[in-house]
Amino acid sequence: METRTRSQSCDFSGAQGLTVVTVNVVIAGAGMSGLAAAIAAAEKGARVSVLEKRKTPGGAAAISAGAIWAPTSISRLREYVPEGDPVLQEILVSRLPGDLAWLASHGLMLSAPESVAGLGEGRNMLGGESGRHDRFMRAMADRAARLGVQFCYQAGLREARLSSPGFEIHTDAGATISTGSLILATGGFQGNRRLLTQYLGAERADHLYLRGLAESTGDGLAAALSLGARTAGDMAAFYGHTMPDGEIPAEQLQPVTPYFARYCVLVNLRGRRFVDEAAALLEEVNPQEGCRQPGGRYFLVFDQHIYASYGINQQVTSAIPAIDRLALARKLGVPVYEAETLAKLARQLGVEGVPADRFIHEIETYNEACRSGSGAGLSPSRIRYAIPVEKPPLYAMRCVPGITCTTGGISVDGRGRVLDRGKRPIRGLFAAGADAGGVFGRHYAGFLGWALVSGRLCGDTAAADS
Ligand SMILES: Cc1cc2nc3c(=O)[nH]c(=O)nc-3n(C[C@H](O)[C@H](O)[C@H](O)COP(=O)(O)OP(=O)(O)OC[C@H]3O[C@@H](n4cnc5c(N)ncnc54)[C@H](O)[C@@H]3O)c2cc1C
Repeated sequence: METRTRSQSCDFSGAQGLTVVTVNVVIAGAGMSGLAAAIAAAEKGARVSVLEKRKTPGGAAAISAGAIWAPTSISRLREYVPEGDPVLQEILVSRLPGDLAWLASHGLMLSAPESVAGLGEGRNMLGGESGRHDRFMRAMADRAARLGVQFCYQAGLREARLSSPGFEIHTDAGATISTGSLILATGGFQGNRRLLTQYLGAERADHLYLRGLAESTGDGLAAALSLGARTAGDMAAFYGHTMPDGEIPAEQLQPVTPYFARYCVLVNLRGRRFVDEAAALLEEVNPQEGCRQPGGRYFLVFDQHIYASYGINQQVTSAIPAIDRLALARKLGVPVYEAETLAKLARQLGVEGVPADRFIHEIETYNEACRSGSGAGLSPSRIRYAIPVEKPPLYAMRCVPGITCTTGGISVDGRGRVLDRGKRPIRGLFAAGADAGGVFGRHYAGFLGWALVSGRLCGDTAAADS
């Protein structure tokens, strides 16, 4: 294949329209899936260019908890995410342990395997901390660069057209690249209000708080659709968390996430519960119901016992350390109400427009059901972790529904190839990570694991096919 690149570093990201470079594989996105694809394709001998919209590599993984995990068996994954594509799920579960070992073999520092949320197993990125894993992701990019991969920063994929030998790629920086294969790894469309409105409806979209990267605006999805791709999975479903209502810097999104919502009560502005807070073990259903609530705001209600037992010491994985999230939320200016009695807490919530009588009735009914073990009979039910909110002080933290990652996206087959509307592979086109839809849905079980596995798979297939 003809190659007109002059060096292994990107020498066309600043070009103004005239540069034409020919490579085997172009990857859009330098997050976990894009970097795994880059290393995999380069180690198989492909000439690879990575386009990244931001100034630096890492994507959402750089601000994540860094737990790369998946359920330990396909039956566990099917049980937890029955709506997901079983073919993709099988790939995730069967390949993850080997792919983690592969990552380690490239010099990336990972912890020993550990359990995650009682649902799966994974290994954590080492060398950083919760919300700060940019060093790990830079090391991944460095490894790819040492294998000859070119990186072009501030050079987003703008358009992909069919053209011999595969695609003609146009970047935001004005460069044109000719490539045999294109791997879409742009991280989903949670950063695109227009697409969220299209798929979730205006009201839900307006209520969402972005707990992820603003740059993930669905560019991979748009490129795939323009090339004839079909979508897969529930385009209105997403992974996210209930988030404190404040201005939260990117690196604090992870530490401030209240991972103990499943032990608490969520109450909307009308003073009513609206979801079984503990039905989804990773709490991902709560924001999906939260964004349907009036005003898109709701309250995380708990007491001193719940906070001391589960708020600070929650045990999802050691990647999420024990910290005082309540203090951090307060420091970030999040409204937190605190009172010695339910009646006083209800009076405070009155300033938010929550009807005091209704709120008191809701919490008392909930507490009674917890004490009598009849949570299943509540509406909505409460099937596990039913603990009365009664030990002062009592708290109500104002929250919003956070969206981290969309789970519907581009349809791919078991080799990572993008499928057209007739379910046939589009030659040379691949999608990985959150761009590849359908492995999860309303329920979710580890996006970093999926990004690693699907990214490596796409890199391997693209290199083999080029
Ligand atoms: C606070 C937080 C904590 C998390 N913790 C965990 C965790 O512990 N475990 C877990 O499994 N998951 C976690 N996640 C989710 C996980 O980090 C992401 O879902 C995963 O990293 C997605 O990987 P990706 O490669 O698909 O996309 P991303 O990592 O988002 O990468 C996409 C990249 O594409 C770039 N891009 C976008 N558009 C273009 C374009 N047009 N051209 C070129 N580049 C483009 C973006 O700038 C970005 O760098 C967390 C997420 C957040 C935000």
